[in-house]
Amino acid sequence: MRTRTQVVLLCLPLLFGVATPGRAQQKDRVAKLLEELSNAPGPSGFEGPVREIVLRELRASGVEVSTDGLGSVIGVLRGSAESPRIMLAAHMDEVGAMVRYVTPEGMVKFRLLGGWLDQALINQRWIVLTNRGPVPAISGLRSTHVTPSEDRNRVTPREDVFLDVGTGSKGETEVLGIRPGDPIVPSSSFTELAHGRYAGKAMDDRVGCVMMIETLRRLKEQGLKTPNTIYFVGTVQEELGLRGAHTAVEAVKPDLGISLEAGIAADHPGGRPDWAQERLGEGPVIYLADSAMLVNLKLRDFLERVAAENKIPVQTEVTSLGAEDSAEMQRYGAGKPSANFAVATRYLHTHTSVIDRADLDRAIDLLVKVLPRLDAKAVAEISRF
Ligand SMILES: [Zn+2]
Repeated sequence: MRTRTQVVLLCLPLLFGVATPGRAQQKDRVAKLLEELSNAPGPSGFEGPVREIVLRELRASGVEVSTDGLGSVIGVLRGSAESPRIMLAAHMDEVGAMVRYVTPEGMVKFRLLGGWLDQALINQRWIVLTNRGPVPAISGLRSTHVTPSEDRNRVTPREDVFLDVGTGSKGETEVLGIRPGDPIVPSSSFTELAHGRYAGKAMDDRVGCVMMIETLRRLKEQGLKTPNTIYFVGTVQEELGLRGAHTAVEAVKPDLGISLEAGIAADHPGGRPDWAQERLGEGPVIYLADSAMLVNLKLRDFLERVAAENKIPVQTEVTSLGAEDSAEMQRYGAGKPSANFAVATRYLHTHTSVIDRADLDRAIDLLVKVLPRLDAKAVAEISRF
């Protein structure tokens, strides 16, 4: 019988997320890839480490790979026909920040990259990515002991937030290599929660990157020639207004596009279906509307029909906020059918978001069934008015 102390000691690695050999072996390829991508730093405009992983994985599947002028990655799976050209897009960037200046006390002031709530900025760990390597930083919160009662429920506005890197002067901070323009990324390690739920930073949109990479891998494993040409695109700067998708569509010239995304689940206490309808664990989500596009309804019906035939549950979402790369695909040329396909995600654009692994698996299952059926006839039918 184990003593109480032994039990506590045995539990410590689990509490702190340290992988014991037994647990590490349980993590399969998909979980390992999502962990690697979630932990990789890639704020908008500085997607380098994520790009390297996406390039490596697309090349491992044996497809032609190139990059466009902004840094988006484009992999091409040539089927039995050059067209229709199907574009899948997952964005590689995550919300982060950029060094603006250093105060005389050595604190780092920053501007944000992407959409943040002020209350998500405080009392967190960050990494400043400098030419001389990563520098850990803390966004401190005033101690309760020195906070007057009228300020206790106040959210600190973003302009007042600073990063403490441990130095005492501007010169000492500069010696660390920190310069204006350096990217800043949340520091938060991937963790497995109970019941196949995964927590980590940047699920938006590394979960989409995994969807894209694994779909390609599964299609290659099946060895069948698809009746189309499929472009697997890792886009940059999505969080700054779909900038990467804007240029990537010019390179791909899609006939039909699907963005692969992290959804916006509000299925937590206090959440309301008026904000978002999708729920974790109830299948991948087809977006019908967001702030920048309306789904092509024939494409929605096609996705739902293939899902029903294969007994894959799907959900829908109608929101008025947010925009995805599919909006750029929809506006390409004279207009193209597009859809946004997502894995429901809680706590987006914070240090730690949460997804359900089963939703990710079902999303990949559905894409593997859908893509071989998007032949010239099907795409012409979907595109016709
Ligand atoms: Zn996203």
